[in-house]
Order: sequence, then C-alpha cells, then structure tokens
Amino acid sequence: MKIQFGEKGEVSWDVLVETLGAEELKDDRHHISSCKERFWRQCCMGSRLTLAFVVSVVTLTQVWLLLYLLSTWDATSPSTHLVYIDDLGNERHIHFSWSNCGSESDPVQLKQLQVTPDPVLIDSNITLTLNAYLDRFLDAPILASVKVERKMGWFWVEIPCVDGLGSCHYKDVCQLSPFVAPEPCPDPFPRFGLPCRCPVKKGQYKVRGGVFSIPELIKYIPAWLVSGDYYVHATAQKKAHITAHVRHSNTVLCSVMRAATCGKMTISTLLRSLVSKGRVVARGYWRGAASLVATPGRSGAVGVVTKEAVLAEFPVGREISGFVVKEVQEVPELHLTALRLEHQGTGADYLHIARADPNNVFCVGFRTTPMDSTGVPHILEHTVLCGSEKFPCRDPFFKMLNRSLSTFMNAMTGSDFTIYPFSTQHPVDFRNLMSVYMDAVFKPNLSEMDFLQEGWRLEHQDVEDQSSPIVFKGVVFNEMKGVFADSQRLFMQKLQNGVLPSHTYGVVSGGDPLVIPKLTWEQLKQFHAYHYHPSNAHFFTYGDQPLVNHLQFIHENYLSHYNKIDPKTEVPEEPRWKEPRSAHVACGFDPLASVDAQNSIAVSYKLVDITDTFETLVLAILGDLLTSGPNAPFYKALLEPGLGSGFSPSSGYDGHTRSTVFTVGLQGVKNQDVEKIKTIIEETLDKIIEEGFPAERVESVLHNIELGLKHQASNFGLTLAMNLTPLWNLDGDPIDGLLINSKIDKFRKCLAENPKFLQEKVKEHFKENPHKYTLTMAPQEGYDDNLQSLEEAQLKEKVAALTPEERARIWELGHTLAKKQEEEEDLSVLPTLQVSDIPRNVVPVPVTMQTLGDGVQVQACDCPTNDLTYFSAVLSTRDVSEELRPLVPLLCGVLTRMGAGDMDFRQLDQAAELVSGGLGVSPHTCFHPVNAMQYEEGIVLSSHCLNTNLQKMMDLWERIFNETRFDDLQRFNTLVSMIATEQANSLVYSGHQYAMTAAAASTSYLSSLAENWGGLSQLRRMKALSETQDLTPTLESLRELAGQLLNRQGMRVAINTTPNHHATALSTIEGFLKGLDGTPVISTLCTIPQTFSPHTCKTHCVFPFPINFASKAFPGVPYAHPDAGALRVLARVMFRFLHREIREKGGAYGGGAKADAGGTFGFFSYRDPHSTQTLAVFDAAVEWVLSGGFSERDVAEAKLGVFQAVDAPISPGSQGRRRFLAHITDELFADHRRLVLDVAPQDLVRVARMYLKDGPVEGACLIGPQNVDLENDPFWNTIQG
Ligand SMILES: [Zn+2]
Repeated sequence: MKIQFGEKGEVSWDVLVETLGAEELKDDRHHISSCKERFWRQCCMGSRLTLAFVVSVVTLTQVWLLLYLLSTWDATSPSTHLVYIDDLGNERHIHFSWSNCGSESDPVQLKQLQVTPDPVLIDSNITLTLNAYLDRFLDAPILASVKVERKMGWFWVEIPCVDGLGSCHYKDVCQLSPFVAPEPCPDPFPRFGLPCRCPVKKGQYKVRGGVFSIPELIKYIPAWLVSGDYYVHATAQKKAHITAHVRHSNTVLCSVMRAATCGKMTISTLLRSLVSKGRVVARGYWRGAASLVATPGRSGAVGVVTKEAVLAEFPVGREISGFVVKEVQEVPELHLTALRLEHQGTGADYLHIARADPNNVFCVGFRTTPMDSTGVPHILEHTVLCGSEKFPCRDPFFKMLNRSLSTFMNAMTGSDFTIYPFSTQHPVDFRNLMSVYMDAVFKPNLSEMDFLQEGWRLEHQDVEDQSSPIVFKGVVFNEMKGVFADSQRLFMQKLQNGVLPSHTYGVVSGGDPLVIPKLTWEQLKQFHAYHYHPSNAHFFTYGDQPLVNHLQFIHENYLSHYNKIDPKTEVPEEPRWKEPRSAHVACGFDPLASVDAQNSIAVSYKLVDITDTFETLVLAILGDLLTSGPNAPFYKALLEPGLGSGFSPSSGYDGHTRSTVFTVGLQGVKNQDVEKIKTIIEETLDKIIEEGFPAERVESVLHNIELGLKHQASNFGLTLAMNLTPLWNLDGDPIDGLLINSKIDKFRKCLAENPKFLQEKVKEHFKENPHKYTLTMAPQEGYDDNLQSLEEAQLKEKVAALTPEERARIWELGHTLAKKQEEEEDLSVLPTLQVSDIPRNVVPVPVTMQTLGDGVQVQACDCPTNDLTYFSAVLSTRDVSEELRPLVPLLCGVLTRMGAGDMDFRQLDQAAELVSGGLGVSPHTCFHPVNAMQYEEGIVLSSHCLNTNLQKMMDLWERIFNETRFDDLQRFNTLVSMIATEQANSLVYSGHQYAMTAAAASTSYLSSLAENWGGLSQLRRMKALSETQDLTPTLESLRELAGQLLNRQGMRVAINTTPNHHATALSTIEGFLKGLDGTPVISTLCTIPQTFSPHTCKTHCVFPFPINFASKAFPGVPYAHPDAGALRVLARVMFRFLHREIREKGGAYGGGAKADAGGTFGFFSYRDPHSTQTLAVFDAAVEWVLSGGFSERDVAEAKLGVFQAVDAPISPGSQGRRRFLAHITDELFADHRRLVLDVAPQDLVRVARMYLKDGPVEGACLIGPQNVDLENDPFWNTIQG
C-alpha cells in the first residue's frame, strides 16, 4: 500500500512562494561543537588581525575570508600569487588579482593591503600592511548580507551560504567576534590600534609590517572557495547604509597555466591532485558548464561507468570524509555502478549510483515509524520546511523552486519512511539544493508557530473578531480531512491498518483528523530528535557528479557533529495469524455513483518479508499474472461479469511494507453481491492451483520487465531512489534490489525445473495462508455529519477546558500568526542561481521529415533509445461529423480494448503485451503556436517496442484500424462502467484541473472543446452512459466514428529509434501506412469556427465535498506571440502572492496561476476551505501586480521557475514530441525561450492590465458544496454534480 502524503506534485510544487519576515540567525547555544563555531575558533587562532579588520572595519566575514584566503593582496600591483606544497610534494601556485569595484563614496575604503613575502608559502609567517578608512561609527547590531558569486563558464553563479560562509545573511556581525567583553583584546590588536569587537570607531586603520603566521587554513575552507573567480558584494546596515565592494578576478585555470609554464607541474597532474583531494569542485564546475551549454533536455546519452573505473577510485575499505566504502557493484542491465558506504561516526548508510547522466539526484530519507495516528511524521515533514538554522525562512523548498533549475523537488511521507529527494542537471544548483535540504532535515527551527501553522491549532474563526467561535485550523489537519473525504483513500488506509495491525502500519502516518489534535509541540520535537538522526538516515546520490564532494559536504557540515545512537525504529515482522480476520467500515456517499452500488470489498494476504528479494520478485510477477490485464484470472472472474466498477484500491502485489501484501477486491459493488465475491475469490484461487498460467502470459510479464529496464524515463535516477526506498529503509540490501537479471534467470530456472512452480506459490501464499484479512466498506447515511459532530465534540471539549489565560493566548497567537504571515521575509539567506545561468541557446533536436504511404507526413528522430522504437500518430478529427464528436474520448478509451479481427479483446491484449509496452490512445487538442485562428484536434496513438518487434506491433495497429470489433456489447458495458468510475475517482485528486478546464471553456473555442472532451461534461456524459440500460446505439455510433477517423486521411506519424534501425523502421511504417484506407491530406490544421464567440461565464458545480476547487480563466496569446513570455513569467510571479493568501492564510492545500503555452491564463486553488473568498484573492493578485507589489528579484526567480519546465530533461523516446504534437519547431522554441528570458518588470504590469484587468472576457468555475450566495447571484450558473 503505497500511502503517501504531500506528493500530489503539480499542485504543491507548482505553487510558489516568496519573501516573508526577516528571521534571525539562530545563535549557537545548543550546538557547542557546531562547524561554524569550530570554524571561527580556527580562524581566530590564525589571524586575529584580519578578523578584526573584518569585524570592525568592513564588517564582512566573506571579504575577510577571501582576503585571508588569498593572503597576498597588493593594492598597487593587482596580480600576485599564492604557493603551497600539496600532499604529493608538488608546489602549487595559485595566482590572484583583485580590484576595488566600489565607488569613492563608499563608507569603507580599502586603500592598501599588502602581504610579503610574495609569493607566500603556507605554514610560513607573513608580513601584512593594511590601510583602510571607515567613515562612520559602528555598533551592534550590524546587519549584514553578503553575496558571493563564482564564475562558471561565462556565468556568475551565487555561492550558497554554507556554515556561515558564502552568500549569507548575518543578523549581527558583532556577534561573530570571538572575543567577548570584558576580556581584553589580545595581542596584536592593541598594538596596531585595532578593535577586536564592536563598537568600531570612525577613522583610519593602519598596520605596517605586522608579522603573523598562517595556519593550515585551507583545510577548513569549503572546497568551493579554494579556487575560482569570485565576485563579492556585501551590504551592512546600521541605520545608515554601508556598502563595500571588492572584486577578485583571475581563475584557477589561469593560475594553472602559469604554473605549467613555470615547469613545476603539468595541468593534468595539478587537476588530478586538486580533484583527488576532493577539495576542489572545479572539475565538476567546468564539466557542468560545458554540459549546460550542450544539454538542455539531454538525458538520453547515458554512457557506462564501469566497476573497474569506480573501484580504482573507491576501493572497498577506502576512507573518505568519515565514510568507508563497503561495497562496489556494477549493474550492467541498468548501465550503472553502485557504491555502498557507511559513515563511521554515526552509522549513516550511503548509496551512490555512478552513472553518466547529468540529471543528478540527491535524497535523504529516514525511517519514521509512528505508533499513533497523530500524523507526527507528516506534520514533521511540513514543519522542517518552515525554516532552518542557515535558512531561516519559511518553505525553503517552495522558495528554492524559483532560485533553481531543479528537475524535481519534493518531500514525501510514507507509512514507515520520510524522504526528501531532488534532481537537477546543474552542478551549482545541486550544491545549493543539497545545503538547503540537509539544513532543513538536520537543523530545522521547529518553532511553536510553525507547529501551529502546519499541524493544528485552536483559533478564532475570524482572527480579527474575538466573538467569533474558536475552531480547529492547520495545514495538515485540513489536508487530511481532504484526503479522507475520498472514500477510496479511506479504504486503502483501513486495509493496511487491518492486515498489518500490530506495529506502525496499524496507525495513520499521515494523521487522522480526529487524532491530530492530540499531538503536542514537545512530541513533535522529540520525534525529530530520534527519527531525523544520522544513525537513522539513508543518503542517496546519483549521476555524474564527483562523489567525494557530496561526502565531504555531508560529513563536515552535518554528520561530524553527531554521535551514534540507537534510534529504535526497527519494524518487526507482523506475527502470522492463526485465523483469518475481517472487518467493516462506513464511508460517505459518492454523488457520482449509483446509490445501490457503492460497496467495496477486498481480501488482503500477508506475504513474505521485504528483504527476501527473490521471493518478492516471484510474488510481484504473480501479482501481475493474477490481476493485470483482461487475461488475468481475477479480471475474468470479478470485473468481466460486472460485479463491480473496478478493482478496489491497493489491488495487486504491494512490496512497500516490512511484510509484503497481496490484495484483490472490487469497488462499486451492489449490496447483494458482496458475499458472492468472497466465494469467487476462493474459487478463482482453486482454479489457478489446478490449471496454472498459460506460458505466453508468463512470457509477456517477463517481456514487460525487459522493456521496463530498457525504457529510459526522463528522471531515471529519481525513479531508482523511490523504488529502492522501501527495501533499503527496512534494512534490505539496495544493491541486491538492483540486480534484476540474475533473479529473472533464477525464476526461469525454477519454472523449467518445476512446471507447477507458480501454482505451488499460489497455494502456499494465498490458499493456505491463514493471515488473510477481509474488509468491506459501505456508505452510511449521515456519515459526513457524524464525522463532523465527532470533530465538534472534540472541539467543544477542548474549548470548554480553556482557562481565561489560554483563551487570551489563543487570541494573541492568532494575531501573531496572521502578522507573521504578512511579514516580508529576507530571502537573501537562500542560495540561488541567476537568470544568466540559463543557456540562451538550445541544441536542436535532429529530426527528418518525409512523406510515406502515398503522402502521410512522417517525422523520424534518431537517438540512443536502447534498442527501442517509439511510435506515435495524430489522427485529425477535423472531418468527423458534429454529432459524433463528443464520443471521441470514449473511442479513445475503448479502441485497443475491444479486440480486432479474429482476436477477441483478451487475445489482443495478450498479443500487445508480448510485443509492446502497451497501445495507448488519447484525445488531442492543440492551439496553433503562431496563428490564433488555427488549431488542431484529434486523437494521439502511442506505443513502444523492442526494435525487433516493430513489425509485429505495427501489424496490431493495422488490425485495430481495419478490424476493431464493435460487436462485443458485454465487453463494451464493462469498459464504460470502468471508465466512468476512473473519471469519477479523478475528481477529488484533480478537481483544480476540472475547475480550470471549465473556467476556460467560455474563453476560447479550443478550450470549450477541451472541456467537452476532458472536463466535467465528459464526466457527466460517462456517468449517464454507465447508467444506461442498452448501450447498443452508442456502440453503433462508435463504429461509425471509427469509420470516419481510423484511416490515413488526416494522419501524421512520428518515430524515434536507434540510428542503425532507422531505415528498417521507416520501411515498416511505410508498409503499415499502405495497409490503411484514405487519401492523405497536406495539413491537419483547423480554423476556429465563426459560430463561436468568447464570452464571460461563471459556473458553480455542486459536489458534496467538504472543500472547494476554484478557478478563473482569461484568454491568452499564441506561443509565438511577443507577450507569451511575459504571461508565463506573470503566472509564476503571482505564485508568491497566491501561495501566501490561499495556502498560508487561507488554509488551502495549494493555489496558483498557470499560463498555457499558447492558450489560456488561469488561476486555481486546490482543496480549499474557502470559495468566493478565493475568487476575490485572484482579483487581488492582479491588483498586486498592477501596484508593483513584486521586485526585480521576483521576476528573475519566476524566470528560473519557468525554465525548470521549459528545459526539463526529455527522455529519448520523447525527443521531437514538442514539434510533433504542438507544432513548435526548434526556432519557435528558441524564440519563446528568448521571450521569457527578456521579460522586464514593466512587461508584467502591462500584460496583467491588458489580458487580465482589462481583458474582454473571463470564465470562472467553483467546484464544491452548496453555496447559497452563488445560487442567488444572477451572474452564476449552478449545476448539481
Ligand atoms: Zn502534507
């Protein structure tokens, strides 16, 4: 049961935030041996003078650091160099130069800084000359913020704040002084007339010929600071504004060249020594810069990192930054080498996957095993993201979204783990994100305010009105109410709790809304201390970046500060029952399903331990054989007779828990059928044990595993991290989990030796397994009211027990929280990439165009697909008759599932499984990227297969085109009811998408078509069809529609394949096209009909949900329009406002704005307790932009955010899809990227006014409970369900 929270991706992670209250740096009281403190101790030992210089004069730690690091600094000759001897005995020269980039009027003037001898040798004494002038008096607190940028290729990239160094924000620089009053300033400060702490007097500070010794400081400086080209900009504040600028130039590369000419060492030996020390990330940067230019969207070219190469660098037993290499294993089937390491001090487990893939992944995970349903791990996951020691700002993940080019960022809570993964193609970004993630999980603030906001709290309904009732509020509290409003989620939860009841799986890790209010802040902190400890952690990294840098960062900044503990988080195996058990639960009525068919029933079996990796593979294969596809015995026995609308959730094999589980059951069951189903399940098992599985079914399951290994998803590393988590989290061997081929071989061997192998497994694990749990669920009259009154009773009890002091505190806290949410936060603490890091040029996708099969356009793209061929085709519905057009989505839903020619649907499915990864069909609508009056509508076919199977796969498509069987009425009935159920279930998850589609429908013709095909209209149509007695006429209409559509007349084709298979693939496609009817047309584009005129329309769709989905939409512009970039950036900029108003203040799960490439501009909220109030927030967002509520920084961040989507990695199978499906050529794409890059702040104000404020029409939609205000509002249409 993969029960996870907080991963409803698009919403939570599209939702962006911004700037709030300047939080303070935590002092170091409770981290006595923290790195920062150690660092300062080291520093002051070394050069008190320079420190004093910084603290007192420039007040900028950073500048000090650089001054110190660079050591030889000469105001008169801007070039000098540093030499030291490395571990190999080689002399290393590093040259520097500097220039003062501040102006003459800056309050701090650095006139001279000279160090002799030149070059300086580390470990020798230096003589320092300093001359600086400070033009004002300084006293505590001195607020300072420092921005350090490092040159990367042609770009300047901001260095993150790491251990108080880098681009940091300091609450008070005076606090950084190591010498506390009344202790007198030590020598040599008094001798040179330098203060060693605040206050600092105005005046000239001079040192002439001071002699100091240089410690081995370089060891204590983060690797990223050792070399490179830096730009430092610092701002200090003490009422008056003081700035100082220092600029350093000259790169290490440059110094390397000089060193080489000196004959001391060659470039390559220097590089090797730099890299092998793991101190310098220069190699990563350089390659990163190169790959950045070369690879937006590249993730297909994956080379092999051999075990030998990895072993040479990381032999077993090698120690690196506190870690020891335990195991190195090559996994040829996945083109990777895995390394397992252990952190000696804490026992932390580390898995690195070396693979030539630039889309690097980091993930830190903890085994979180709650023993109650207060939702403590889930609330903790939310709360650690509310600010940490180094990054004291709320929601650093949300904020980093706009400061990064990440390809994925999220946090997830499972039943027994919490993981924090991200991926990015950009090396500096990787380091930035890793520092934010690590600090969030290991050093979170966990303040009481954060707990109240994210968990639960008592608060006046209206915080401004003391007479308003006190109610429960809190983000997780509301989120979980929304989750369990979905009866299928409730069923999944109860099923897991029931079959594995004795330990952590017996509780609700996400939180039961009725139990959440029992959690205290203290308990939350306690849970963090034990669970988020390195001894309970798993670290995962993946990709082509150097492992040593990751290890060093993690060890030095975090793990080295911990001792080993026993976190006591083991999950014991569930004791095996002697007797089966059963239970019944109630749920609310589903308004979209017929009243008497809303039962669910499922049977779960406890299977083997997750660490038994061969047995779990056998059970996973068995799970597929039993339930997946129309040939599966349970499909035949349960779904086909129409006993239910679909399998119950959790059906199939589930390998996520300590004891793995298999479940089979049905939803949408009629009252009288519940008992019957239990019998059928038993009989089906008996039949399998008797007859076994057909050999070709077993073969097709194995074929699918092979295809799965070859098919590269665009985020392969992330998928690995997620897939390995359950096993690894429960102390299984993750490397063993990767070795699939050897287990498949063993499986085949078992099968060959014993033909009854699988039957015996069924007997052992199912038939003779007493650990069997049967759960039934039925809707109950008044269920929602009952839940509501339970909540109210609890509230009443809590409120009644309040003392007057507590009441006063609630009133006060409500205000404090509201105020805190209003505060502007200082985000300069967070690391960031710059817009200049985004490459301006794109690498074209090489495609060839030809016409085959008497005139069909075929696009071919050769790329490294791992010997797979990807096929897709667009069939235009332009010439389909008007009355048949609404049936297009239904045709898509059934086309490949009805059977064709002499194959019934079962045989067709079996054939498709044996030769392909499945045959997909879906509706297609697309705005023209250039011409606003044109669009494309149709259906898309897609499938992929091994190169060797292409002919067989195309034969199947040909059969489907020419011989689909529209005569199996019973099959059609089954499919209609399954599709209707799937769509109804999607409403709770995707309500915001339905609301957006509905809101947009009145604003453009294509949006109205999209609504008709994929929105609430389609949902209602399917519900009505599923309740229709005789579907014969519908099936006839489908046959007619297929006759009009399934030919080569309005067809376009695209294939992606390996270069050596190009010619064969094209001739196969040619053969396929020749076998179809129709005369190909030249263009498949349509013109917007004159009959449609955009208009304003507001719709309220009433569903008995406890929450709302709200949306507002405006017509936008085509993709290539000059304003398209500005609208896209505008949507992103608005997130900051919308997130604060809708999520943080409004308590909704999410909210935001979206500008479709070429189509519509839309606002939305997700699982929102408010209705019309949120619509007002959308309007306020427009006003906020018009009044200039955003900064230039916001615009830059929004651009980075937009580019995460624009430059997201594209898998080999999807290369060229942008051109094929959306008609966006590489030139249009490059122009669009430039439009986004060049957006200026005033453009946003202009387009907000033009398209939103003064737009000609707008659409609105609200999905949610009855709303009397809207019913009485003449501008609103109310539709029931
Ligand atoms: Zn959540």
